[in-house]
Amino acid sequence: MHSVPERLEYLVRGLALPRGRRVGKPGHRTAEKWIEAQFTRLALMPYAETGYALPYTSGRTHFTNYAALIPGRDQSLAPVLLGAHYDSVIDAPCADDNAASVALTLEIASRIQPVQLRHDVIIALFDAEEPPYFLGDAMGSIRFYESQTDRRGFHAALISDLIGHDVGFRSLGADTPEEIRRLVCVLGAESHPALPAIIDATPTPSGLAAIALRNSYAPDLSDHHIFRVNRHPYLFLSCGHWPHYHQTTDTPDRLNYTKLAAITDWTHALLLKLAGTPLPPHTKTFEGTDPTAEFEATRIARAIPSELLKKLGLTVPTSRAGVDAFVGHLLRETYELG
Ligand SMILES: [Zn+2]
Repeated sequence: MHSVPERLEYLVRGLALPRGRRVGKPGHRTAEKWIEAQFTRLALMPYAETGYALPYTSGRTHFTNYAALIPGRDQSLAPVLLGAHYDSVIDAPCADDNAASVALTLEIASRIQPVQLRHDVIIALFDAEEPPYFLGDAMGSIRFYESQTDRRGFHAALISDLIGHDVGFRSLGADTPEEIRRLVCVLGAESHPALPAIIDATPTPSGLAAIALRNSYAPDLSDHHIFRVNRHPYLFLSCGHWPHYHQTTDTPDRLNYTKLAAITDWTHALLLKLAGTPLPPHTKTFEGTDPTAEFEATRIARAIPSELLKKLGLTVPTSRAGVDAFVGHLLRETYELG
Protein backbone atom coordinates (compact mmCIF):
# COMPACT_ATOMS: atom_id res chain seq x y z
CA MET A 1 0.00 0.00 0.00
CA HIS A 2 1.06 3.62 -0.14
CA SER A 3 3.54 5.03 2.35
CA VAL A 4 2.44 7.50 5.03
CA PRO A 5 3.97 10.52 3.20
CA GLU A 6 2.17 9.44 0.01
CA ARG A 7 -1.16 9.11 1.81
CA LEU A 8 -0.74 12.52 3.46
CA GLU A 9 0.15 14.17 0.16
CA TYR A 10 -2.89 12.60 -1.47
CA LEU A 11 -5.12 14.04 1.27
CA VAL A 12 -3.51 17.49 1.10
CA ARG A 13 -3.95 17.59 -2.69
CA GLY A 14 -7.57 16.47 -2.31
CA LEU A 15 -8.43 19.35 0.03
CA ALA A 16 -6.03 22.13 -1.06
CA LEU A 17 -7.72 23.05 -4.35
CA PRO A 18 -6.93 26.27 -6.25
CA ARG A 19 -10.12 28.11 -5.33
CA GLY A 20 -9.68 27.57 -1.60
CA ARG A 21 -12.14 26.96 1.25
CA ARG A 22 -13.13 30.42 2.40
CA VAL A 23 -16.37 30.68 4.42
CA GLY A 24 -19.30 31.46 2.09
CA LYS A 25 -17.39 30.63 -1.10
CA PRO A 26 -18.11 27.68 -3.47
CA GLY A 27 -14.79 26.07 -2.55
CA HIS A 28 -16.00 25.82 1.05
CA ARG A 29 -18.91 23.63 -0.03
CA THR A 30 -16.48 21.43 -1.99
CA ALA A 31 -14.35 21.06 1.14
CA GLU A 32 -17.39 20.15 3.23
CA LYS A 33 -18.33 17.36 0.83
CA TRP A 34 -14.72 16.15 0.80
CA ILE A 35 -14.61 15.94 4.61
CA GLU A 36 -17.92 14.04 4.69
CA ALA A 37 -16.47 11.61 2.14
CA GLN A 38 -13.25 11.14 4.15
CA PHE A 39 -15.08 10.47 7.44
CA THR A 40 -17.34 8.02 5.56
CA ARG A 41 -14.34 6.31 3.93
CA LEU A 42 -12.82 5.77 7.39
CA ALA A 43 -16.18 4.47 8.66
CA LEU A 44 -15.97 6.86 11.63
CA MET A 45 -18.90 7.15 14.01
CA PRO A 46 -20.53 10.58 13.84
CA TYR A 47 -20.05 12.60 17.01
CA ALA A 48 -23.64 13.88 16.88
CA GLU A 49 -26.76 11.81 16.22
CA THR A 50 -27.49 14.03 13.25
CA GLY A 51 -24.26 13.15 11.46
CA TYR A 52 -20.73 14.41 10.97
CA ALA A 53 -21.80 17.96 10.09
CA LEU A 54 -22.41 20.36 12.97
CA PRO A 55 -23.89 23.44 11.28
CA TYR A 56 -24.22 26.80 13.00
CA THR A 57 -24.88 30.37 12.01
CA SER A 58 -23.62 33.76 13.00
CA GLY A 59 -25.57 36.68 11.63
CA ARG A 60 -26.56 35.56 8.16
CA THR A 61 -23.50 33.44 7.59
CA HIS A 62 -23.61 29.63 7.66
CA PHE A 63 -20.74 27.58 9.03
CA THR A 64 -20.13 23.87 9.56
CA ASN A 65 -17.85 22.05 11.98
CA TYR A 66 -17.24 18.33 11.44
CA ALA A 67 -16.80 15.83 14.24
CA ALA A 68 -16.51 12.07 14.62
CA LEU A 69 -16.17 9.91 17.71
CA ILE A 70 -13.90 6.94 18.25
CA PRO A 71 -15.44 5.35 21.32
CA GLY A 72 -13.20 4.39 24.23
CA ARG A 73 -13.68 1.73 26.87
CA ASP A 74 -14.99 4.12 29.53
CA GLN A 75 -17.55 6.58 28.23
CA SER A 76 -17.82 8.26 31.64
CA LEU A 77 -14.36 9.76 31.11
CA ALA A 78 -13.75 13.10 29.42
CA PRO A 79 -12.71 12.59 25.78
CA VAL A 80 -9.41 13.45 24.12
CA LEU A 81 -9.87 15.86 21.22
CA LEU A 82 -7.73 15.82 18.09
CA GLY A 83 -8.56 18.86 15.99
CA ALA A 84 -7.60 21.26 13.23
CA HIS A 85 -9.31 23.92 11.15
CA TYR A 86 -10.16 23.27 7.51
CA ASP A 87 -11.19 26.70 6.21
CA SER A 88 -8.78 28.86 4.20
CA VAL A 89 -7.90 32.52 4.65
CA ILE A 90 -7.91 33.35 0.92
CA ASP A 91 -9.25 31.82 -2.30
CA ALA A 92 -6.14 29.70 -2.81
CA PRO A 93 -4.94 26.18 -1.89
CA CYS A 94 -3.64 27.06 1.61
CA ALA A 95 -1.95 23.66 1.82
CA ASP A 96 0.14 24.31 4.93
CA ASP A 97 -2.74 26.34 6.40
CA ASN A 98 -4.34 24.03 7.11
CA ALA A 99 -4.82 21.08 4.74
CA ALA A 100 -1.66 19.49 6.17
CA SER A 101 -3.17 19.34 9.67
CA VAL A 102 -6.45 17.99 8.29
CA ALA A 103 -4.43 15.23 6.60
CA LEU A 104 -2.63 14.45 9.89
CA THR A 105 -5.95 14.34 11.73
CA LEU A 106 -7.53 11.95 9.21
CA GLU A 107 -4.44 9.72 9.13
CA ILE A 108 -4.41 9.41 12.95
CA ALA A 109 -8.19 8.82 12.96
CA SER A 110 -7.60 5.88 10.61
CA ARG A 111 -5.12 4.33 13.07
CA ILE A 112 -7.22 4.34 16.26
CA GLN A 113 -9.66 1.48 16.72
CA PRO A 114 -12.88 1.67 18.75
CA VAL A 115 -12.35 0.66 22.42
CA GLN A 116 -8.58 0.64 21.87
CA LEU A 117 -8.23 3.49 24.38
CA ARG A 118 -9.92 4.17 27.70
CA HIS A 119 -11.05 7.60 26.58
CA ASP A 120 -13.29 8.52 23.68
CA VAL A 121 -11.39 10.39 20.98
CA ILE A 122 -13.15 13.25 19.22
CA ILE A 123 -11.90 13.88 15.69
CA ALA A 124 -12.78 17.53 14.99
CA LEU A 125 -12.34 19.57 11.82
CA PHE A 126 -13.23 23.15 12.64
CA ASP A 127 -14.63 25.86 10.42
CA ALA A 128 -13.85 29.59 10.54
CA GLU A 129 -10.48 29.73 12.24
CA GLU A 130 -9.24 32.36 9.82
CA PRO A 131 -9.91 36.12 9.95
CA PRO A 132 -12.38 37.79 10.22
CA TYR A 133 -13.65 34.99 12.49
CA PHE A 134 -10.42 34.34 14.43
CA LEU A 135 -11.13 34.36 18.18
CA GLY A 136 -14.68 35.63 17.54
CA ASP A 137 -17.94 33.91 18.47
CA ALA A 138 -18.22 32.33 14.98
CA MET A 139 -14.79 30.69 15.22
CA GLY A 140 -15.45 26.97 14.72
CA SER A 141 -13.52 25.67 17.73
CA ILE A 142 -15.09 28.27 20.04
CA ARG A 143 -18.58 27.45 18.79
CA PHE A 144 -17.88 23.72 19.12
CA TYR A 145 -16.72 24.19 22.70
CA GLU A 146 -19.54 26.53 23.67
CA SER A 147 -22.54 24.79 22.12
CA GLN A 148 -21.81 21.54 20.31
CA THR A 149 -20.22 19.32 22.98
CA ASP A 150 -21.56 17.34 25.92
CA ARG A 151 -20.76 18.09 29.55
CA ARG A 152 -17.88 15.67 30.04
CA GLY A 153 -15.29 18.34 29.33
CA PHE A 154 -11.97 17.34 27.78
CA HIS A 155 -9.22 15.08 29.06
CA ALA A 156 -6.85 16.92 26.70
CA ALA A 157 -6.89 18.66 23.34
CA LEU A 158 -4.29 18.20 20.60
CA ILE A 159 -4.40 20.93 17.95
CA SER A 160 -2.18 21.45 14.93
CA ASP A 161 -1.72 24.26 12.40
CA LEU A 162 1.05 25.06 9.87
CA ILE A 163 2.81 21.71 10.18
CA GLY A 164 3.62 20.87 6.55
CA HIS A 165 6.70 22.98 5.93
CA ASP A 166 10.38 22.99 6.78
CA VAL A 167 11.44 25.72 9.17
CA GLY A 168 13.63 28.20 7.33
CA PHE A 169 15.71 31.14 8.51
CA ARG A 170 15.34 34.26 6.45
CA SER A 171 19.00 35.14 6.75
CA LEU A 172 20.06 31.65 5.60
CA GLY A 173 17.41 30.86 2.99
CA ALA A 174 18.23 27.67 1.09
CA ASP A 175 21.28 27.20 3.33
CA THR A 176 19.15 26.70 6.44
CA PRO A 177 20.67 23.60 8.08
CA GLU A 178 18.76 20.36 8.55
CA GLU A 179 18.75 20.83 12.36
CA ILE A 180 16.57 23.92 11.86
CA ARG A 181 14.44 22.57 8.98
CA ARG A 182 13.34 19.52 10.94
CA LEU A 183 12.00 21.52 13.91
CA VAL A 184 8.42 21.42 15.08
CA CYS A 185 7.23 23.40 18.10
CA VAL A 186 4.89 21.99 20.71
CA LEU A 187 3.27 24.69 22.81
CA GLY A 188 1.18 24.39 25.94
CA ALA A 189 3.12 21.90 28.09
CA GLU A 190 2.59 24.35 30.95
CA SER A 191 -1.17 23.60 30.81
CA HIS A 192 -0.77 20.52 32.98
CA PRO A 193 2.09 19.32 35.23
CA ALA A 194 2.06 15.84 33.63
CA LEU A 195 2.63 17.08 30.07
CA PRO A 196 6.43 17.66 30.05
CA ALA A 197 7.03 14.04 31.11
CA ILE A 198 4.55 12.79 28.49
CA ILE A 199 6.39 14.75 25.78
CA ASP A 200 9.80 13.55 26.95
CA ALA A 201 8.57 9.95 27.03
CA THR A 202 7.45 10.17 23.39
CA PRO A 203 10.56 9.92 21.20
CA THR A 204 10.42 11.85 17.95
CA PRO A 205 10.86 9.86 14.72
CA SER A 206 14.22 10.32 13.00
CA GLY A 207 14.37 13.50 10.94
CA LEU A 208 12.12 15.38 13.36
CA ALA A 209 13.02 17.42 16.43
CA ALA A 210 10.28 18.74 18.68
CA ILE A 211 11.09 21.72 20.81
CA ALA A 212 8.66 22.76 23.53
CA LEU A 213 7.80 26.38 24.15
CA ARG A 214 5.33 27.95 26.48
CA ASN A 215 2.31 29.28 24.66
CA SER A 216 2.74 32.86 25.89
CA TYR A 217 5.66 33.43 23.48
CA ALA A 218 3.00 34.30 20.90
CA PRO A 219 -0.65 35.27 21.07
CA ASP A 220 -2.88 32.18 20.70
CA LEU A 221 -2.27 31.22 17.10
CA SER A 222 -5.02 28.68 16.49
CA ASP A 223 -7.87 26.52 17.82
CA HIS A 224 -6.16 25.63 21.12
CA HIS A 225 -7.29 29.05 22.41
CA ILE A 226 -10.67 27.94 23.74
CA PHE A 227 -9.16 24.91 25.53
CA ARG A 228 -6.45 27.04 27.11
CA VAL A 229 -8.78 29.71 28.45
CA ASN A 230 -11.02 27.01 29.90
CA ARG A 231 -8.02 25.42 31.61
CA HIS A 232 -8.01 22.06 29.87
CA PRO A 233 -4.67 20.34 29.25
CA TYR A 234 -3.75 21.04 25.63
CA LEU A 235 -0.84 20.81 23.23
CA PHE A 236 -0.51 22.85 20.06
CA LEU A 237 1.84 21.71 17.31
CA SER A 238 3.12 24.12 14.69
CA CYS A 239 6.15 24.81 12.51
CA GLY A 240 5.35 28.53 12.76
CA HIS A 241 5.12 31.09 10.01
CA TRP A 242 6.98 30.87 6.70
CA PRO A 243 7.21 33.08 3.62
CA HIS A 244 4.11 31.46 2.05
CA TYR A 245 1.93 32.04 5.12
CA HIS A 246 -1.47 33.35 3.98
CA GLN A 247 -0.20 33.63 0.39
CA THR A 248 -1.38 32.14 -2.91
CA THR A 249 2.00 30.37 -2.98
CA ASP A 250 1.03 28.09 -0.04
CA THR A 251 0.62 25.17 -2.45
CA PRO A 252 0.81 21.36 -1.99
CA ASP A 253 4.08 21.08 -3.95
CA ARG A 254 5.93 23.21 -1.37
CA LEU A 255 5.27 20.92 1.61
CA ASN A 256 7.64 18.34 3.08
CA TYR A 257 5.51 15.18 3.32
CA THR A 258 8.27 13.15 4.97
CA LYS A 259 8.38 15.68 7.80
CA LEU A 260 4.58 15.82 7.93
CA ALA A 261 4.53 12.02 8.24
CA ALA A 262 7.02 12.19 11.12
CA ILE A 263 4.86 14.83 12.87
CA THR A 264 1.83 12.60 12.29
CA ASP A 265 3.57 9.56 13.82
CA TRP A 266 4.71 11.64 16.78
CA THR A 267 1.29 13.22 17.34
CA HIS A 268 -0.29 9.77 17.18
CA ALA A 269 2.15 8.52 19.83
CA LEU A 270 1.48 11.60 21.98
CA LEU A 271 -2.25 11.01 21.74
CA LEU A 272 -1.86 7.40 22.90
CA LYS A 273 0.25 8.54 25.88
CA LEU A 274 -2.17 11.34 26.76
CA ALA A 275 -5.08 8.91 26.68
CA GLY A 276 -3.19 6.50 28.93
CA THR A 277 -2.21 9.06 31.57
CA PRO A 278 -4.54 10.39 34.27
CA LEU A 279 -4.62 14.19 34.10
CA PRO A 280 -6.40 15.22 37.30
CA PRO A 281 -7.32 18.90 37.69
CA HIS A 282 -4.10 20.62 38.67
CA THR A 283 -3.60 22.81 41.68
CA LYS A 284 -3.31 26.56 41.54
CA THR A 285 0.26 26.47 42.79
CA PHE A 286 1.32 25.50 39.26
CA GLU A 287 0.07 28.85 37.99
CA GLY A 288 2.27 31.89 38.28
CA THR A 289 5.42 29.81 38.55
CA ASP A 290 7.61 28.86 35.61
CA PRO A 291 7.56 25.06 35.83
CA THR A 292 8.54 24.36 32.22
CA ALA A 293 11.62 26.61 31.84
CA GLU A 294 14.14 23.83 32.38
CA PHE A 295 12.11 21.42 30.26
CA GLU A 296 11.99 23.89 27.35
CA ALA A 297 15.70 24.65 27.67
CA THR A 298 16.58 20.96 27.65
CA ARG A 299 14.47 20.28 24.54
CA ILE A 300 16.22 23.09 22.65
CA ALA A 301 19.65 21.93 23.79
CA ARG A 302 18.82 18.43 22.59
CA ALA A 303 17.42 19.57 19.23
CA ILE A 304 20.08 22.06 18.17
CA PRO A 305 23.79 21.19 18.26
CA SER A 306 25.79 23.57 20.44
CA GLU A 307 28.09 24.55 17.52
CA LEU A 308 25.05 25.67 15.55
CA LEU A 309 23.70 27.65 18.52
CA LYS A 310 27.14 29.30 18.78
CA LYS A 311 27.07 30.15 15.07
CA LEU A 312 23.71 31.83 15.62
CA GLY A 313 25.21 33.90 18.43
CA LEU A 314 23.43 31.89 21.12
CA THR A 315 24.53 29.75 24.05
CA VAL A 316 23.11 26.39 25.10
CA PRO A 317 19.98 27.35 27.06
CA THR A 318 19.74 26.21 30.67
CA SER A 319 17.10 28.61 31.99
CA ARG A 320 14.22 30.83 30.93
CA ALA A 321 16.65 33.55 29.84
CA GLY A 322 18.33 31.11 27.45
CA VAL A 323 14.98 29.98 26.04
CA ASP A 324 13.98 33.65 25.62
CA ALA A 325 17.13 34.33 23.61
CA PHE A 326 16.56 31.32 21.37
CA VAL A 327 12.89 32.16 20.78
CA GLY A 328 13.78 35.78 20.05
CA HIS A 329 16.12 34.57 17.35
CA LEU A 330 13.56 32.09 16.01
CA LEU A 331 10.85 34.75 15.77
CA ARG A 332 13.14 37.26 14.07
CA GLU A 333 14.22 34.65 11.54
CA THR A 334 10.85 33.08 10.76
CA TYR A 335 8.06 35.58 11.30
CA GLU A 336 7.01 38.05 8.67
CA LEU A 337 7.24 41.16 10.81
CA GLY A 338 6.14 43.75 8.30
ZN1 LIG B 1 -4.22 30.82 8.72
